[in-house]
Amino acid sequence: MADFDLLVIGGGSGGVACARRAAGYGARAAVVENDRLGGTCVHRGCIPKKLLVYASHFSHDFEDAAGYGWSVGERSFDWPAMVQAKSTELDRLEGIYERLLRNAGATHIRGTGRLLDAHIVAVGDETHRAETIVIATGGRPTMPEIPGIELAISSDEMFDLPALPARLVIVGGGYIACEFACIMQGLGSQVTQLYRRDLPLRGFDHDLRAVLCEEMRKGGVDLRLDTNAVSLARNGSAIAVTTTTGEIIEADQVLFATGRKPNVAGLGLEKAGIEPAQGGAIPVDEASHTGVANVYAIGDVTDRINLTPVAIHEGRCIAETLYNDNPQVPDHRDVATAVFTTPELGTVGLTEDEARNAFPAVDIYKTRFRPLKHTLTSREETIFMKLVVDRASGRVVGCHMVGDGAGEAVQLLGIAVKAGATKAQFDATMAVHPTAAEEFVTMYEPVPETVADAAQ
Ligand code: FAD
Ligand code: NDP
Repeated sequence: MADFDLLVIGGGSGGVACARRAAGYGARAAVVENDRLGGTCVHRGCIPKKLLVYASHFSHDFEDAAGYGWSVGERSFDWPAMVQAKSTELDRLEGIYERLLRNAGATHIRGTGRLLDAHIVAVGDETHRAETIVIATGGRPTMPEIPGIELAISSDEMFDLPALPARLVIVGGGYIACEFACIMQGLGSQVTQLYRRDLPLRGFDHDLRAVLCEEMRKGGVDLRLDTNAVSLARNGSAIAVTTTTGEIIEADQVLFATGRKPNVAGLGLEKAGIEPAQGGAIPVDEASHTGVANVYAIGDVTDRINLTPVAIHEGRCIAETLYNDNPQVPDHRDVATAVFTTPELGTVGLTEDEARNAFPAVDIYKTRFRPLKHTLTSREETIFMKLVVDRASGRVVGCHMVGDGAGEAVQLLGIAVKAGATKAQFDATMAVHPTAAEEFVTMYEPVPETVADAAQ
C-alpha cells in the first residue's frame, strides 16, 4: 500500500494549495519542501515585493501632501528597518502556511524530493510511495552569460540587501524589472533600467506599454530602450556596466531581471518517464496531467501563466478532480494581472492587437486624464484606461489601465470580462463618483476608426 494518496514536491503557492484541498477531502497528502513553506510568492516574490511597493509610495505621499496644506518635516528612509519588518512578517506567514497544512491533516516532509519512478519519491535517505504525484517545484531567476555576470544580483537577493544602493542598474523589461525600477526609485535609489527592445512589457497592450514607459520616466526612472548590458566589471566599490550603445554606467548594485526558468534539475523526471520541454518546463495538458498516468505538474514549473493565483487554482483543480469527485480544469483565459509599478498597470482579456486578430471588427475606447488627487499636487502623473470591444457581439474583451489602483480595478473588471459583459452593460452601470474607475463606465465614444487603425 502507498504511504500517501498524494505527494506534492514543492511547498509553494500551488503545492500547498493542492495538498491542503486534498487533505481536506480526506486524502492522505504530503508536501516535500526543501526551503521555506510558502515558496517564491511568500519569501521572494509577491508579498515582500508588495510590502516594498507600499514603502516606496511614502516618498510620493510626503511630496504630494504639501499641495494639501501639510508640511512634512525632515524625512529619511531606514532600509535595514524595512528589511527587518518585512522578514518578521514573512516568518509569520511561513508559520501560517505550516499551521494550515497541519490543520488540514497534510504531512510536511522537509528535504529535496527526487523521483525514483512514477510512484516513489526519495527525500534524503527515505523513500515515500504515493498513488498520485504532483510536481510543483516552481522556478528560479536566470541570467545571461556575459562577462562579469557574477557581480550582478537577481530578484532573490533584492529583498535582503545590506544597504539601499545609491545607484542601481536594472537589466530587463518584464514584470520584475519594471516593478523594482519603480520601487527602488521611490525608496531613493537612482535607477537606470536597460531594456533591449523598443518598449518594456512585451506581450501587453501596446498603449499600456507606451503610457507606462512615459509615466516611469516622469517618476524619475532613467529607462533606456533598445539598450542592453554587454559586460560588467568591478571598479573599486562600484560596478561598471558597459552597454550596447558603448556607454559605461557605474552602479552600486546591478539587478538582472531577465526571466526565470523551471526548477527541474535533479528531480529525476526521466525516471518517471517525463521529458521536459526545451527550457525545462514540464509539458502538461489542460488538466495539468503530464501524460504519465499518476503524475501531474502545476505552477511555474509548467511555465504556462506564471502567477500565484494560477498555480493555486491549478493545484485545487487536481484535488477537486481526484478527491471530491468534482472534475475541474483550470481556465487560463482572461486571467487578470497587475504590474505593481508606480503608477500601477492592470490588464484583463485581449490586447488590441489580439482582438483585431480574433474578430472581424473591434471598437476601442480610450481615455487619459489627470487624476483629481493631483489637481492639488505638482505631480504630473496621469491615468490611462482602455476598453477593447468585439463590435459584432458588443462584448468587452479587454480592459486595460495604467494608474493608481489599476490592480484593484482589473480584479473586479475581470469578473465582467469573464461573465461576457457587453459595452452596453458597462454603459448601463451607474458610475461611482468621484472615482477614477468611473471612467470605465463613461467612455461613450469609440476612437474614430481611422485613428484606431493608425495606431496599428
Ligand atoms: P513556487 O512558489 O516557486 O514554489 C516552489 C517550491 O518548491 C519552492 O518553495 C521550492 O523551494 C520548492 N522546491 C523546488 N524544488 C524542490 C525539490 N526538488 N524538492 C522539494 N522542494 C522543492 N505572482 C503574482 O501573482 N503576483 C505578484 O505580484 C507576483 N510577484 C512576483 C514577484 C517576484 C519578484 C517573483 C520572482 C515572482 C512573482 N510572482 C507574482 C510570481 C509567483 O511568485 C509565482 O508564480 C508563484 O510563486 C508560483 O508558485 P509555484 O507553486 O509554482 O512555485
Ligand atoms: P519576464 O519574462 O516577464 O521578463 C524578462 C525580461 O528580461 C524581458 O524583458 C526580456 O526581454 C528580458 N531578457 C530576457 N533575456 C535577456 C537577456 N539575455 N538580456 C537582456 N534582457 C533579457 O520575467 P521576469 O523575470 O520579469 O518575471 C518572471 C515572471 O514572474 C513573470 O513573467 C510573471 O509571470 C511573474 N511575475 C509576476 C508579477 C506580478 O504578477 N505582478 C511580478 C513579478 C513576476 P524580451 O521582452 O526581449 O524577451
